[in-house]
Amino acid sequence: MRVAIIGAGYVGLVSGACLADFGHEVVCVDSDSAKIEALKQGEIPIYEPGLQDLVRSNVKEARLSFATALEEPVRAADVVFIAVGTPSRRGDGHADLSYVYAVARDIAAAVDGFTVVVTKSTVPVGTGDEVERIIREVRPNADVVVASNPEFLREGAAIHDFKHPDRIVVGTDDQRAKTVIAEIYRPLNLNQSPIFYTTRRTAELIKYAANAFLATKITFINEIADLCERVGADVQEVARGMGLDNRIGAKFLHAGPGFGGSCFPKDVRALIKTAQDHDIPLRILEAVAAVNDTRKRAMARKVSAVFSGVLRGRTVAVLGLTFKPNTDDVREAPSLPLITALQDMGARVRAFDPAGMKRAQTLLKDVTYCDSAYDCVENVDVLVIATEWEQFRALDLERLRDLMACPVVVDLRNVYRPEEMHRYGFAYAGVGRPLAAPAFAHDPFLAIGLTSEGAHQRAELVEATRVGATTCWASQLCNAKNENVVSKG
Ligand code: NAD
Repeated sequence: MRVAIIGAGYVGLVSGACLADFGHEVVCVDSDSAKIEALKQGEIPIYEPGLQDLVRSNVKEARLSFATALEEPVRAADVVFIAVGTPSRRGDGHADLSYVYAVARDIAAAVDGFTVVVTKSTVPVGTGDEVERIIREVRPNADVVVASNPEFLREGAAIHDFKHPDRIVVGTDDQRAKTVIAEIYRPLNLNQSPIFYTTRRTAELIKYAANAFLATKITFINEIADLCERVGADVQEVARGMGLDNRIGAKFLHAGPGFGGSCFPKDVRALIKTAQDHDIPLRILEAVAAVNDTRKRAMARKVSAVFSGVLRGRTVAVLGLTFKPNTDDVREAPSLPLITALQDMGARVRAFDPAGMKRAQTLLKDVTYCDSAYDCVENVDVLVIATEWEQFRALDLERLRDLMACPVVVDLRNVYRPEEMHRYGFAYAGVGRPLAAPAFAHDPFLAIGLTSEGAHQRAELVEATRVGATTCWASQLCNAKNENVVSKG
């Protein structure tokens, strides 16, 4: 089949490359000429594992090409996918549909013969009706069916998700459109991925309801994590205990700094707005959005609490800037409000991310960007793990501790085990886990190379940890290490 994809971003480019890999003839169109020029040169504008190879091999086989003008690809296409962005509209949180509607007009002017126009962008319920109205207005006699086919891929695992979807949701009542879309996805259907046909409006709502539900699950466990910290329970075990129940499932129950990314925050906001417009307020979702918004900055208070609430003059290393691993996307990443809040509290911030620094640099000022995790932690007072990149899961803890001015780690992704961190002499705080008493497990003063001269401090330390005051412990450990360095010097 001949396919035109309008919008060559995360969704458009991945969809285009995968559909070409299925054997279709695909043209990806984008109005960003620099992006298209780069793609024509074999450069991939986004970081997505496996995408470069997939694009290159399909370009080589002449199944995938790129263009800035949509007229010719749309004229030739059996199916046109709309995959442009639908960001939050400034001011009110509604999905900004201006890109979708602009593209609908251009498509209408260009179509030739029977064409299925499929909205893959995440769009509020009723958008398909408006796309159809626009097309009929521009070309009353065009033989076009407008269908909905929302995309569920995750950045970082996009190719796998596109090729192994749990389901393919198709919203249309038109039999000809169903036949064309079934042909497009035939290789997946052979792989047992079910195509779920429904009405266009229902398909549009399925996408928002699914994202909103996952965002709610994350927010739920984040609030349970706060309670765990207060009552001395372990959120990871709570999540595991819950997730083993098949009715609940283990996924999206990882406590952390709040959800971010290009989809969940804006989709939650857009669904809330749609519901309000129809006079059906979604109160649970309103709470989810509010809780998540405040949580990101609250993570900075978690860091300052380690130093009894005073961060002025401290240097903080932040590892991870992207909203999740294996992407370079920093849109609405928790790291952004976290870092701004740390700076507002008077901290200096150093940061490292394997893929997201270029994009973060346009959004964050006065941050020292580093070449590696170890470069980042040099002489800092505290390390904050904000994104669970694989390479942050197995850091050389001895090296880390020796490089830091104070061996204090705030792990917002629960990557490390508290006992292990204490064994290496770190003051360590995760999310939703009880503050284990390090001195009971091992002697952190010895671990950081202090002699028994620190005995009186150790006594205070034991007392401090006994009452659960990691804050005192972190500050003391910090001072102790500095004194040791001075006395050694
Ligand atoms: P993106 O910002 O990465 O890409 C959108 C692209 O559309 C950009 O390259 C832009 O230049 C292009 N564009 C805008 N107007 C255009 C026009 N008139 N003609 C041609 N190109 C135009 O966005 P994305 O992350 O790929 O998201 C696209 C849609 O898919 C959104 O609605 C999003 O909510 C949805 N979605 C995204 C994901 C994800 O993980 N990123 C997952 C599922 C669904």
